[in-house]
Amino acid sequence: MTRPVLAIAGNPNCGKTTLFNALTGANAKVGNYPGITVERREASMQFGDGDGREAQLLDIPGTYSLSARTAEEQVAITAIAGLHPYEEPDAVIVVVDATQLARNLYLVLQVLELRLKVVVALNMSDVLTKHGLKLDAAELSRRLGVPVVPISASRGQGIAALKRALAQVLDAPDDQVSSAVAPLPNGEVAAAIERVAPEVPSGWSRGDEQRRRSLACWALLSLDQGDELWHVPEALRAAVLQSRAASDFDFDQAVVSARYAWIDAAMPALLAEPPGVLRRSTDAVDKLLIHPVAGFTLFVLVMAFVFQALFSWSGPAIDAVGGFFDALGAATADVLPPGLITDFLTDGVIAGVGAVLVFLPQILLLFLFISIMEDSGYMARVAFLMDRIMKAIGLTGRAFVPMLSGFACAIPAIMATRTMERRRDRMLTMMVVPIMTCSARLPVYTLIIAALYPGPDEPGGSFLPGLSLQAAIMVGMYLFSTVLALAAAAVLGRTLLRGRAAPLLLELPPYRMPMPRSVGRMVWERARLFVTEAGTVILVCTIVLWALLTFPQDAELSRDFDAEQTAVQARAEADPSLDQDWLAEQRHQLGLARDSELLRASWGGQLGQAIEPVIAPLGFDWKIGIGLIGAFAAREVFVSTMGVVYGMGDEADEQSLPLREHIQAEVWPDGRRVYTPLVGLSLMVFFALAAQCMSTLAVVKRETQSWRWPLFLFSYMTALAWIASFAVYQGGVALGLG
Ligand code: GDP
Ligand code: MG
Repeated sequence: MTRPVLAIAGNPNCGKTTLFNALTGANAKVGNYPGITVERREASMQFGDGDGREAQLLDIPGTYSLSARTAEEQVAITAIAGLHPYEEPDAVIVVVDATQLARNLYLVLQVLELRLKVVVALNMSDVLTKHGLKLDAAELSRRLGVPVVPISASRGQGIAALKRALAQVLDAPDDQVSSAVAPLPNGEVAAAIERVAPEVPSGWSRGDEQRRRSLACWALLSLDQGDELWHVPEALRAAVLQSRAASDFDFDQAVVSARYAWIDAAMPALLAEPPGVLRRSTDAVDKLLIHPVAGFTLFVLVMAFVFQALFSWSGPAIDAVGGFFDALGAATADVLPPGLITDFLTDGVIAGVGAVLVFLPQILLLFLFISIMEDSGYMARVAFLMDRIMKAIGLTGRAFVPMLSGFACAIPAIMATRTMERRRDRMLTMMVVPIMTCSARLPVYTLIIAALYPGPDEPGGSFLPGLSLQAAIMVGMYLFSTVLALAAAAVLGRTLLRGRAAPLLLELPPYRMPMPRSVGRMVWERARLFVTEAGTVILVCTIVLWALLTFPQDAELSRDFDAEQTAVQARAEADPSLDQDWLAEQRHQLGLARDSELLRASWGGQLGQAIEPVIAPLGFDWKIGIGLIGAFAAREVFVSTMGVVYGMGDEADEQSLPLREHIQAEVWPDGRRVYTPLVGLSLMVFFALAAQCMSTLAVVKRETQSWRWPLFLFSYMTALAWIASFAVYQGGVALGLG
């Protein structure tokens, strides 16, 4: 006899893994890695009823619903429903966090609709008892039509009763399965389901008409143009899209409300006592935290603190990482003989690893704060607070913190979108976060502003009393990026990523003391994921870019540098007034001039020249073109690339006066200045909008598990950048500002 398969489903953090361990004795991982338990864990369980009966247990990723928007939800639905490639479980244990019953029941209702054998494990009963609360498990069981067993997974209470209920359910006849209990509205909803149901494969519905309709409903909630669901027949997807196009009826809203209506109606009867202590203290705090004025003020303070940390506290750590890899590169260059291999190691490999690790301080800090906010329950209040504003542009309230984090760096900000429940909301946020003015744009802005616009003490250097023109331009760039990011969200949210932001949960989760272990795990997991998965892409890209800017080595140069070296040497020997310092300086200058020529002759340099016709309408020459190509690795690389282009070495930074002077002095062949204030503006607009950060693209690839989204992000941002710079430059020229 084969062993029956039992799947453990439930919301994130409701105690699935704890229960899994309690049932199997296996030492599977406990703790919350929101979103990363995408693998299935299995172990066998003894019923312990004396005749050696066993079952195979599956721990399924946590999910709030079966509408598959995230990778976790996709695994959950396929595993629970037994869609290809999974086999159907013989029964499902739905774990419910009794302290958040209403929110958890939503998933229960969805699982019931799939016509599976179900047992509900009412977990965290110990917490209820502690607060003197009681849930009527018998009443819940009567309303759901399946056994409901109160348990405490962490204390091992109720486990035997749960096993008995499971054994009974498994022994019951196969047609004794659960049913949909929350009636869906007739009319539009029923009509849409009827339209789609015939396309549900019979392998899915297994001849059960109710299951067929439930899966049709699931498809209508889950499938859209951009979904990345596996193994969905094209006919089914087409039917869903067609049905959705046929009317602008809000199917999601109707179905979600119907389910919550059932839950709201059931709740009073389930709470054996009126909501007591637990809710009362929470409510008082909530009054404050989600108050439009007080809550908002507090939130601004919290965010100010987080940002202070992201910008200032991580600064020394970032410098330390950068300094370490610079030193390592220099040390390597000292030890090894000069040559291509050494160059490859220092400028390719070591610089590449440094480029990956330099993000870690901000990632660690941001996730430390986010997981504390998330675990304590504060994040749910923030989402609630911001939801109305964000919804106006089609984003969820949960997008606010990631968007704001984008001001520091898009990498952790994109990873932070994982707290969102819906795929559509995540994608939308990921697609606009990279527009926010991240700190890598600052060196570029600083260089351009300082070189091209009058300083505070110069004529015309004041914008408003007390506000210099330079500062005003910097503030303007921040505002510009914010407005553009929101506008992009509004447009994408109404076109490519159409749909509603996830309706906020009707119940705020209880406050809990964040557990250091769980916070630590989340931070560690994110850091590990970033380094191992995005890191490899970043490393490869750095090496490719290095090669682009280094090869070919045997380019024909306009000057014979070797001959000049010899000449300089000879001059120094002939003229006693020229000392060693003079010689060293001459050699250094020749070396820089040679590097500059080599860069121009490199593939990257040739590319920069090749794209001049494309960027000339923006006011850029081919030297800026080389800088732009370098900047696609990372924006701040623009500054050092320009340093090499202008023969100043790659040590030049945005503060360096010679680089500024060079920029001011650059002329076109016809003698016009290359860098006018208008060109500067056009260049800053380009940097504000172009997707010039391969690390961002690597992270989007990793988070979406596809190349499609990073490609789209790259194309749309770069196109937008070109168009905006074109408008700025040509508009300015037309107005006579050029
Ligand atoms: P999962 O995300 O659903 O797998 O949840 P976990 O099993 O990782 O549990 C989440 C947290 O809830 C952990 O800190 C557990 O120790 C805790 N927990 C699980 N079951 C109970 C319970 O019955 N009572 C209490 N008080 N805590 C529990
Ligand atoms: Mg788990």
